[in-house]
Amino acid sequence: MIPMSRTLESSPNALINKKVLDRYLTLELPENKIQATYIWIDGTDQNIRCKDRTLDFVPKSVKELPIWNYDGSSTYQADGANSDLYLHPVAIYRDPFRRGKHILVLCETYSYDGTPTATNHRKECAEVAAKCADEEPWFGIEQEYTLLDIDGQPLGWPKNGFPGPQGPYYCGVGADKVYGRDVVEAHYRACLFAGVKICGTNAEVMPAQWEFQVGPCVGVSVGDDLWVARFLLHRISEEFGIVATLDPKPMTGDWNGAGAHCNVSTKAMREKGGITAINQAVEKLSKCHEKHIKAYDPNGGKDNERRLTGRHETSSIHDFSAGVAHRGASIRIPRGVADAGCGYFEDRRPSSNCDPYSVVSTILSTISLNK
Ligand code: ADP
Ligand code: MN
Ligand code: MN
Ligand code: MN
Repeated sequence: MIPMSRTLESSPNALINKKVLDRYLTLELPENKIQATYIWIDGTDQNIRCKDRTLDFVPKSVKELPIWNYDGSSTYQADGANSDLYLHPVAIYRDPFRRGKHILVLCETYSYDGTPTATNHRKECAEVAAKCADEEPWFGIEQEYTLLDIDGQPLGWPKNGFPGPQGPYYCGVGADKVYGRDVVEAHYRACLFAGVKICGTNAEVMPAQWEFQVGPCVGVSVGDDLWVARFLLHRISEEFGIVATLDPKPMTGDWNGAGAHCNVSTKAMREKGGITAINQAVEKLSKCHEKHIKAYDPNGGKDNERRLTGRHETSSIHDFSAGVAHRGASIRIPRGVADAGCGYFEDRRPSSNCDPYSVVSTILSTISLNK
């Protein structure tokens, strides 16, 4: 008997026959009309919102795109009595759902008087990155996430119990090892099509947990690519009737949590003898552990408390540590980097639900601006 591990009945999105939609998506559109999906981060600093509009031109640069507005009182960002917030386009991606000339438009959010909203961390990140531009900082982020059935259970887990203990699942192959590869595969392609600099994926240690990596990207653009990759992940999962969660510890007990390791290098670190610059950066990071923990999840360290336990390939949230090839340390210097004497380092502390703009600006402020 095939175990009934999925409750598809409860996911209307997955049950809708997509062939019907396809008939409409092939309709010809009037010349020069394109559809644009404006995307932004809401007041949770975790969830993504989007809405669509028609444009009667194909933009050559983001500057040509109109500023738009939305109801901030419905996104935890404003009071009803003064609710209009503004969307300032900052980056254009190709739309893998509609294809053709249709676009996704990543936006920053501002209030009516031009001040950035509380969860617009991109503005500051871009300013910090501009100050450090001479050092040519590169970032690569490993986004771990967990696929859930519509009832909130990890995808493919038995409904009344647990899968066997961790061990066979990381980079696993086979119907009893991994769950939801279709989502991963679709997402990888969609990212490449869209123009997100995705560089790989793998199945993770906990069953139904996966990872994709973005990078290396210059400065603030790693945050842009990661937020758009997250949007694509949620949007594609929606079509499959699956929920992708970025919760850093979706299952308590002997199950790995989810992080967003941030890999960092400057020009000096990538050049011959760069290990000296890497060690200098690690030394600076060791002096402000708390500042970083505060910036590494959207709740000031509260989310990471559940994950950074010192077990399950994490360091303790209370201590700073660094080591070559050490997956129980705050900072890991990859073995290959130590051997080559140059390259990059990995900050393993950021939570899976971190705002990459906060992570990047905090790292740069410490290692390059000495703040
Ligand atoms: P891990 O061994 O920790 O699982 P991954 O292979 O998953 O590492 O991810 C490595 C990440 O490091 C990728 O996001 C990649 O873009 C990034 N990366 C590689 N080289 C550099 C570099 N020189 N500077 C910054 N990031 C880099
Ligand atoms: Mn990885
Ligand atoms: Mn991983
Ligand atoms: Mn890693």
